[in-house]
Amino acid sequence: MDNSTYRLIYLSRNEIQGESQQVHREVAHILDVARKKNAESGITGALMFNSGCFAQVLEGPLSAIEETFERIQCDPRHSDVVILSFDSVDSRSFDSWSMAYVGANIDSIEEFDTFRAESGFDPDNIPANRIFEILKEHLLDAEDGSSMMSAAA
Ligand code: FAD
Repeated sequence: MDNSTYRLIYLSRNEIQGESQQVHREVAHILDVARKKNAESGITGALMFNSGCFAQVLEGPLSAIEETFERIQCDPRHSDVVILSFDSVDSRSFDSWSMAYVGANIDSIEEFDTFRAESGFDPDNIPANRIFEILKEHLLDAEDGSSMMSAAA
């Protein structure tokens, strides 16, 4: 049996339509479900959202990541899901969060937008480690409570 921890990082295009308030309500709903299910299956991670796209890091056992990502990939609330990296890692970086949310942090959204524009919006030009670092950095910033997040159960 493979006891390793894996980390998957992907990018996708937002397909949630509507007014900003409705969209944020839907993202909050995604987070509620994700946190509950991830806590049950031993997944931790972080999600970033802006109006155009999502970036997410999932960490956990291989089978749990595969099952969770299979569901996520089929979700019609986003499209063009592109895996940026999927590797075994020595330890988790988001071990306290069943799914941290850094999309409420305005600095992270601006940085993410700039970064995507610089890459020409081409996933092939987006290094996974840059996404990972942005998420980690803003997660740490968010520890003062300026972003919405949830501790893993
Ligand atoms: P059910 O709740 O039974 O739903 C059945 C189908 O309908 C699924 O394909 C589901 O995706 C879709 N669906 C559900 N609600 C809606 C809706 N409001 N509008 C349109 N379609 C809908 N889940 C996790 O467990 N962990 C995560 O980390 C996670 N991250 C996510 C990140 C993003 C960007 C998105 C878009 C979704 C994420 N989800 C996550 C949600 C995931 O895609 C599933 O919806 C969820 O896991 C429930 O799966 P289910 O099979 O029980 O679906």
